[in-house]
Amino acid sequence: MASNRVIVVGGGPVGLVAAATLAMQGVPVTVVEESADITEDLRASTFHPPTLEFLATLGVTQSLHDRGLISPLWQFRDRKQGAVATFDLSLLRDETPYPYRLQCEQWKLTQALREKLAANPDVTLHYGLTATSVEQNADRVLLTAKRADGSEEKLEARYLIAADGARSFIRHSLPVNFEGMTIPERYLSLSTTFEYRDAIPDLAGIAYVSDPDEWVTLLRTPTLWRVLFPTDPAEGDEAMMAPARLEERLQALVPKDTPYEVVHKTAYRVHERVADRYVHGRVILAGDAAHLNNPLGGMGMNGGIHDAMNLGEKLAAIWQGTEPEILGRYERQRRKVAIEAVQAQALRNRSILNERDPAKRQAYYDDLRAVADDPVRHKGYVMRSSMIQSLRDAATVE
Ligand SMILES: Cc1cc2nc3c(=O)[nH]c(=O)nc-3n(C[C@H](O)[C@H](O)[C@H](O)COP(=O)(O)OP(=O)(O)OC[C@H]3O[C@@H](n4cnc5c(N)ncnc54)[C@H](O)[C@@H]3O)c2cc1C
Repeated sequence: MASNRVIVVGGGPVGLVAAATLAMQGVPVTVVEESADITEDLRASTFHPPTLEFLATLGVTQSLHDRGLISPLWQFRDRKQGAVATFDLSLLRDETPYPYRLQCEQWKLTQALREKLAANPDVTLHYGLTATSVEQNADRVLLTAKRADGSEEKLEARYLIAADGARSFIRHSLPVNFEGMTIPERYLSLSTTFEYRDAIPDLAGIAYVSDPDEWVTLLRTPTLWRVLFPTDPAEGDEAMMAPARLEERLQALVPKDTPYEVVHKTAYRVHERVADRYVHGRVILAGDAAHLNNPLGGMGMNGGIHDAMNLGEKLAAIWQGTEPEILGRYERQRRKVAIEAVQAQALRNRSILNERDPAKRQAYYDDLRAVADDPVRHKGYVMRSSMIQSLRDAATVE
């Protein structure tokens, strides 16, 4: 039966991981992706250990290592004082085969998964097709989608996964309360060829640099350094992106005689929101469609991939005869992680970075140093920051 399959709307990391998880277990899948191709843009670039473990079951972790950078250390710094506390993921060597963050752009994952999926006869991939309406009845979901030339496609399935990102059309078409807030500042992300370690020798490959006036994050990718600045939205896109303004901000961070070479730049709004319900009959939200958070900690894409694996496994169990009520457990497990682990940690990271009160800043620093200096607390901290702990906690949720 043509409709005895799952439709995945969205061919980002979450949609393609869900599709690959289902296909690996023999569930036919159709992926509907609006873009004509995968764009090599400046988005998530950190893979945490449990994500690498999951992706190994899909056969793509090696290719990410071939194109990525292993980063066992990450750091909190003060923009004036230097290193505050350095965390070492190699303490996790008994917990995971991947005791580090792998720095690798998310499009390298979607490219690798697309290649695998394209070779699977149970998978149909539609690029350049936009979901425009979704309906469901007791037995199936009906999706209408449009191509750029205006032609329409009607697809049927037993279930539909909405992995269509932050602005999810599917979420908007459902009675979802997307609770939370929008962060006032905009985030400006740049990449540059400058080698920051020439100027800051003790800089870890991932550094969150606190400052009461302008915090910043520095992330080493395989080829470039990425710099993230919070930006006053009143500055406006044109002024914020002007080459002279970028140069001024980069020079203020690390002064040098020659101009900076900026390879990419992008600015975006950041939200902290979690959908009140993930499961709507046969339509289920995952990834950015279900939850959004600030990028401080690199947990958005990773958390979304963990949704996709969890949901893919439960839908595959339904194909094997398990009752659909199991989907309620997906929602209970993954909403708990989104709220209690990802959002809580990302908000705390932001508080540490932009705290203005000197006494509170000092208290944060003292606490971070105390954690880093105590081997037991240090390990507990990196268990949480690497998302291993949140997965273990979720496994106990019925
Ligand atoms: C500019 C930017 C920078 C970011 N930087 C970071 C970062 O530094 N660190 C970090 O951890 N996270 C970052 N993120 C967040 C991270 O990229 C997301 O958490 C991650 O991409 C979520 O994956 P997803 O598959 O849920 O959604 P997406 O990657 O957004 O994928 C959704 C897909 O659905 C498709 N789609 C949308 N609507 C439709 C439709 N109606 N029909 C068909 N297809 C549709 C889209 O084209 C897209 O391919 C950034 C996000 C943005 C936008």
